[in-house]
Amino acid sequence: MDKTLASAEIIAVGTELLLGQITNTNAQYLSTALAGLGLNVYRHTVVGDNLARIREALEEAAARADLLIVTGGLGPTQDDVTRIAAADFLGESVEMDEQGLAKIETYFRERGLVMAESNARQAWTISGADTLPNDTGMAVGSAYAGERCALIVLPGPPRELKPMFTRYAVPWLLERMGSVQPLYSRMLRFAGIGESNLEKQLLDLIDGQQDPTLAPYAKEGEVMLRVTTRAASELEAEAKLAPVLREIRARVGQHLYAETDIPLEQAVSELLLARGERLSAAESCTGGKLSDLLTNVSGSSRFFAGSVICYTNAVKQQQLHVPAAWLEPAPGPEHADTGEPPYGAVSARTAERLAEQAAAVMDSDWALALTGAAGPDPAEGHPPGTVYIALARRGERAVAEKLLLTGDRDMIKLKACKQALFFLWKRLVQG
Ligand code: ATP
Repeated sequence: MDKTLASAEIIAVGTELLLGQITNTNAQYLSTALAGLGLNVYRHTVVGDNLARIREALEEAAARADLLIVTGGLGPTQDDVTRIAAADFLGESVEMDEQGLAKIETYFRERGLVMAESNARQAWTISGADTLPNDTGMAVGSAYAGERCALIVLPGPPRELKPMFTRYAVPWLLERMGSVQPLYSRMLRFAGIGESNLEKQLLDLIDGQQDPTLAPYAKEGEVMLRVTTRAASELEAEAKLAPVLREIRARVGQHLYAETDIPLEQAVSELLLARGERLSAAESCTGGKLSDLLTNVSGSSRFFAGSVICYTNAVKQQQLHVPAAWLEPAPGPEHADTGEPPYGAVSARTAERLAEQAAAVMDSDWALALTGAAGPDPAEGHPPGTVYIALARRGERAVAEKLLLTGDRDMIKLKACKQALFFLWKRLVQG
């Protein structure tokens, strides 16, 4: 085939996928890898172990794309029909790959096992195709350069598919991709700003985009922006991305905490480590989630002292010395804060006290405190999503901030933690 490959589709074969028993992670892996090579992926298809339907999926995909990648259904049993369907579609037949067969025979011989006739099927390839060896399993893959399209067949198990793809399919593809340039991406990570607000501030850049392209999205309580360009080299990509990155920094730089793909807790940890400082926490409504995020960062014992999960008023009083009188329910959020107790457990004063005491009790340079209503019910008359966060520096008065968050209980807890981390991040970058 002389056609240059520019577009691709992925067809995953497996009734298990259709039944929802397994997730199609192969498509995710291959899509990322193909984008990295500069191929445009047009569609993912999932089809059961059925000859006619695999054949039909191949016909349909070939009408749209230059390259079809089929995964799964290369096993030894009668219902593993992917190769037969692919050969049939190409007008070829299946044939034995002698090296593949020898490997399977050796495997059985060395273990003193009898090889069933059906095991030989795993060494079948497509006539006219290049065989892709399987370094981590039995079933060989195939790569076929046809008139209508190129077709690559890979095994289903990810631990077999990935090495076969990177070691054998990628070099095969690169030889056939002509001058298509690879894609280079930067992931920018933001905090303290919602996805729609970020999009609004960058709307003209997003709308007018051609190359580089900008794609905002939200994940796990944070907002990200992927900036992508097509270039001949890393150096050229840098040059194309630089002006766009500069413009983004100028507009929303105060929310941009990393230009690599790291979560906020890691960015905060790097700042604390660089300063040789330690953080502690007092968590009421988040019940330990902030500590969980922080201890997901490896080496966290070097910057994180610990946390008091002060869920009840008794713990707030006994462990973190919040005066009992403060914790009586306040007259109500609708009443003016007179500066006199009671403030309530969900209040700026209580959050501040918790943070100050956490820093003192756990002997740390910084402490974050969170207290609020995670929902779905109100707390002390505060609607769900009302959370007070406070930040204390050792020996100084704490500062609190009121948040009004949306989402279900889990999301409110996560967003509260991310906002608290962002509160600290802002202080740390100020110097
Ligand atoms: P073998 O290498 O044993 O011949 P195969 O090519 O026949 O495998 P399947 O029988 O379709 O592959 O799937 C085997 C296993 O591979 C599945 O049970 C699942 O664990 C994994 N798998 C298959 N397809 C996918 C997919 N699209 N994404 C993630 N995992 C998959």
